[in-house]
Amino acid sequence: MFKKILIANRGEVALRILRACRDLGIQTVAVHSTADAEAMHVRLADESVCIGSASAAKSYLNTQSILSAATITGADAIHPGFGFLSENASFAQMVEDHGFRFIGPSPHHIAMMGDKITAKTTAVALGLPIVPGSKEGVKDVETARTLAQEIGYPILIKASGGGGGRGMQGVLKEESLEECYHAARSEAQLAFGNPEVYIEKYLPHPRHIEVQIIADRFGNVATLGERDCSLQRRHQKVWEEAPSPVVDRATREALCGKAREAIKKLGYQGLGTLEFLYQDGEFYFIEMNTRLQVEHPITEFITGIDLVCEQIRVAAGELLSFTQQDTCLHGHAIECRINAESPLDFLPSPGKITSYHAPGGPGIRVDSALYVGAVVSPHYDSLAAKLIAHGRTRAECLARLNRALAEYVVDGIQTLLPFHRTLVQDTRIVAGDYNVKFLEEHAEELRKSTQIILNEGKSPS
Ligand code: ADP
Repeated sequence: MFKKILIANRGEVALRILRACRDLGIQTVAVHSTADAEAMHVRLADESVCIGSASAAKSYLNTQSILSAATITGADAIHPGFGFLSENASFAQMVEDHGFRFIGPSPHHIAMMGDKITAKTTAVALGLPIVPGSKEGVKDVETARTLAQEIGYPILIKASGGGGGRGMQGVLKEESLEECYHAARSEAQLAFGNPEVYIEKYLPHPRHIEVQIIADRFGNVATLGERDCSLQRRHQKVWEEAPSPVVDRATREALCGKAREAIKKLGYQGLGTLEFLYQDGEFYFIEMNTRLQVEHPITEFITGIDLVCEQIRVAAGELLSFTQQDTCLHGHAIECRINAESPLDFLPSPGKITSYHAPGGPGIRVDSALYVGAVVSPHYDSLAAKLIAHGRTRAECLARLNRALAEYVVDGIQTLLPFHRTLVQDTRIVAGDYNVKFLEEHAEELRKSTQIILNEGKSPS
């Protein structure tokens, strides 16, 4: 097992990894930007190294500084968390070349899944169903037009190197194709440094269902059920639940069986997530994330397995500590992403936390690096906290979530807490009746309900 791990991240995920290290008796090194000198992950780590100025490019994405920090502190492995360098194949390779273990899959698998077209081609070879679409990058408008006619409108133009819900353009009819094609390419170039785009059939009302997998180097592969991440804003997840309210046991077993077979064939090692769209009883693979996911705590709640500890164990070359037969799913879990954003218009709301009270009690977990005096910086992602609830049934889970949302106090910045208070009381969400379009289609109505909650003064944030 590793003796010392450098955590190449910040915020709640850095803290999450630090906690797993403590549980495993591993020393921790935090790295931080000048803006994060007082951050919780820095305060709690055994050692810390400042790796650059506030801008992420100069610190959390600064590979040379991170590798130097690992060398100076004598770390034997680097955990990238999620975001930042977690899906950067050349960083993973560099880490290994410098004699450290990268806590994640091989650079080869990261690169394969990082390019969405290669990922889809690989998925087909592994026997997974995909969304109908182009088999390679679409080089010009004419090719796009021919393909779109074959597939049938509406279509979606997506960036090959995309992520985080960015770089997607829906095209309803041929007249808008040319403009959308060029817009998608320039957005892709700007956001990902790669203008390549591809085309997919646009599914009008799918759910986003993903399967958690983990594999060790001895060929043992396990799936840990599915997560339903259909409640999204601008293709970004806001609320996730496990299991999905619409997936029954037989469907789950079939999907997870296919996922295990695919991962075995691929020879993949580590933690990963296969993402699917699910519509009219059919699953369509869209991508694979080769890292820990933001929403992993809901899987931890229903399986009782610590995914980060397990990820560290398999990276250290140990056997998976459980078998597929050992796993069973208990009850229901829901995660709310408490972003530092205005709950009405979702604009970032950085600032200093002036008062803070995290909820507790049965079935509640809060993953957050917030404390009174902490500063939510405008330089980084707006995810400030995750509130996760668990219950024996979905109804019990919702009741506990409702209770915890009412207790949670974050002052000094605006957060999505009031928005989640609206969602947890929405009868359609309570009934599990929603798809990926729900938040967009009901935006105005949800905004009004959130405004009422704010006016009632129940919500200080
Ligand atoms: P990213 O990597 O940027 O997160 P994904 O391919 O994982 O992009 O898709 C994110 C979300 O975008 C999906 O959960 C879904 O809501 C929407 N989406 C993606 N592809 C399609 C599609 N073909 N039809 C309809 N919605 C889609």
